[in-house]
Amino acid sequence: EDAPGRGPRLDGDEAADSRRWGAQHAGARELAALYSPGKRLQEWCSVILCFSLIAHNLVHLLLLARWDHMPLVILGVVMGALIADFLSGLVHWGADTWGSVDLPVVGKAFIRPFREHHIDPTAITRHDFIETNGDNCLVTLLPLLNMAYKFCTQSPETLERLYPWECFVFCLTIFGTFTNQIHKWSHTYFGLPPWVIFLQDWHMILPRKHHRIHHVAPHETYFCITTGWLNYPLEMVGFWRRLEDIIQGLTGEKPRADDMKWAQKIK
Ligand SMILES: [Zn+2]
Ligand SMILES: [Zn+2]
Repeated sequence: EDAPGRGPRLDGDEAADSRRWGAQHAGARELAALYSPGKRLQEWCSVILCFSLIAHNLVHLLLLARWDHMPLVILGVVMGALIADFLSGLVHWGADTWGSVDLPVVGKAFIRPFREHHIDPTAITRHDFIETNGDNCLVTLLPLLNMAYKFCTQSPETLERLYPWECFVFCLTIFGTFTNQIHKWSHTYFGLPPWVIFLQDWHMILPRKHHRIHHVAPHETYFCITTGWLNYPLEMVGFWRRLEDIIQGLTGEKPRADDMKWAQKIK
């Protein structure tokens, strides 16, 4: 059996294959149709609020910057990137592995995009900026709001003391906000700006070849999609498999049951 994401087949079976996977897959069409105007509005509001807060916080961070903060700031930025990568893996793994599109509220709004992405991995490259980034912007609103509140209420001495920590949180939220944009780039093979390709080649954001490992059915490893730094170490220790065994033992739920149901939808 061929899996989605392994690229075009060369054995003359391409027509049949493209009917089974991709935009024409019955499950993919059904999932794409569930993208509603209400959901779109939520994404627009999240993006506008999130980017306003990022700009506000960035200005404050730049105004407070000092050279003697540098070593701790670098540590904060690296830790922020690492923890963002881990959280991207945890959320992606959770949504891929558990729950279903039928769940009230979260099913259609937040689990649906993950199911669609496995059946039609290139659909993400046709999503615009709002659809790509809306949900992540919603998630990072809270830490960004919290940071903006501190900048407006705390004394300069307190802010000075908190500075490296705030840089850590800011880096974490920036990587968190742009995770799906980075993920989209990892699926884009034409027309990427040279600076994006540079960041991918130097593994500062998720490289394209690296993310293909996740897209081999049954989608059970390499869940981290921000920098991908943690994918190999987590795979080495069997992190996701162990976590799934524990949850299956506790709840009796079978990992990826809903994901497999959607993959098998033929009409
Ligand atoms: Zn996935
Ligand atoms: Zn992907």
